[in-house]
Amino acid sequence: MSLLLERMSYSSKDGFYDVVIIGGGILGVTISYWLAQLYDCSVALIEKETEVAKHASTRNTGLLHRPFYLNPEKKRVFSRAAQKSYFLWKDLATKYNLPWSPIGTLEVALDDQQVQTVNQYKEWAIKNGVEEDEVEVLDSKQVQKLEPQVRCAGAIFSKTDTSVNYGEFTNFVFEMARKNGVKFLGGSQVQGIKETGENVGIRLRGIDGRSKEISGKFLINAAGGGSVDIAHELGLAKEYTDLHFRGEYWIVDEPFASKITRNIYSVARYKEFPFLDPHFVIRTNGRRQIGPNATLVSGPGAYKGLSETRFQLVSKIFERPIGPKLKLFTNGMFLSLIWHEWHSSISKKAMSDRVKAFIPSIDVSYLNERGLAGVRSSLIDKNGFVPEAILISGKQSMHILNYNSPGATGAPAFSAYVISKIMQEGSFERLKKKPISSEDQLWKFDDASDL
Ligand SMILES: Cc1cc2nc3c(=O)[nH]c(=O)nc-3n(C[C@H](O)[C@H](O)[C@H](O)COP(=O)(O)OP(=O)(O)OC[C@H]3O[C@@H](n4cnc5c(N)ncnc54)[C@H](O)[C@@H]3O)c2cc1C
Repeated sequence: MSLLLERMSYSSKDGFYDVVIIGGGILGVTISYWLAQLYDCSVALIEKETEVAKHASTRNTGLLHRPFYLNPEKKRVFSRAAQKSYFLWKDLATKYNLPWSPIGTLEVALDDQQVQTVNQYKEWAIKNGVEEDEVEVLDSKQVQKLEPQVRCAGAIFSKTDTSVNYGEFTNFVFEMARKNGVKFLGGSQVQGIKETGENVGIRLRGIDGRSKEISGKFLINAAGGGSVDIAHELGLAKEYTDLHFRGEYWIVDEPFASKITRNIYSVARYKEFPFLDPHFVIRTNGRRQIGPNATLVSGPGAYKGLSETRFQLVSKIFERPIGPKLKLFTNGMFLSLIWHEWHSSISKKAMSDRVKAFIPSIDVSYLNERGLAGVRSSLIDKNGFVPEAILISGKQSMHILNYNSPGATGAPAFSAYVISKIMQEGSFERLKKKPISSEDQLWKFDDASDL
């Protein structure tokens, strides 16, 4: 990449934009929506695929999480983004008749210690703004009455957790942004970037293999699993690296599948690692699936296979900067969890055994079709996994790293928050504000951005 950069002139031949966004996922798309609503300016949305939402923003569990399990102090921004965005997504789904299935989630405790955790979740839910009647702590008998297939020591029932289709949401918001003037540069992979003092120069490679250059006044990096590499290109975030974990799903066959009518999650056992036991989830089309696990893979597009990517995986593990990964790869617990997750990738039975811990009647013979796998990219520094999304400012750029679950839930408010941060830093001062006309505004910026 850097050799290419040497030869780049960065004089804009094909296009110049006030703001360039990299990443046509739910985050980049909602950022583009807000910018087009707020400013009379040119905005380009760069995406390596020819359509938006081809990666994590479609390849996920599809749950709109109410923020009962998010610590209101330690995960303040994410919990507030989830709480605000619930109403924003609900308005969108209601107004345009998009899939919205408020079936609720039971998050089950498997022992007495986890019962204490679900009690704490109820307190967190209320602190995060969830209404009293939306969450209830249940004992094992009450859970069994609601869901006869489920066994546990107790649970929290989040009644307004909602199954949605984030790919559809993203596409819908994208069309609104496009109508408002956002230019989509699809099929364009970012190959090199340079901040030049005045502008940011970006070299793109199209799907036909040809290169072109564009430039902008300001760059927003919302490239999901590619965002750390892009920040590194500009000499930023050097203390961070990332690892990629593929989440795999299995569809549960009927007639067993329909015996369960709510999403079933179990309380996370290893809070410092991104490994949850697979859940039982109901998609908006009514299909039930279990997953995801968290198999270590070589990159954000590694949706299949293990053996053919072994070499890339080893290269990824030893890729610089190596420092942040050292602590993890000398941690016995982490290595054992990685092995455990790999095992449940290779063995369907291992996957179903993990779910048997709370749905004992599930059987491996009910799992005959794979669901759509997705890849989570987790940020790592010298202390291990970074718990929340982080924003890093460059001279003419803003980088959003580690934008993970419940990132799809919180996207409309989180993206407004990102824009408000850039405004506070003064980088949009020269952009002309649009007059506010409330009738074509689906979402209100001032309220959404106040996290
Ligand atoms: C298995 C799984 C389950 C999940 N379940 C849920 C859930 O139930 N609820 C929830 O709220 N959240 C969930 N999440 C999290 C949520 O899906 C993500 O937080 C969210 O989709 C991230 O959006 P994004 O726009 O940042 O990333 P993405 O959707 O990955 O978009 C980034 C885009 O950047 C593009 N890009 C990258 N590099 C380049 C480059 N060099 N040039 C051009 N384009 C580039 C990519 O092609 C991609 O389209 C889940 C995630 C996974 C993986």
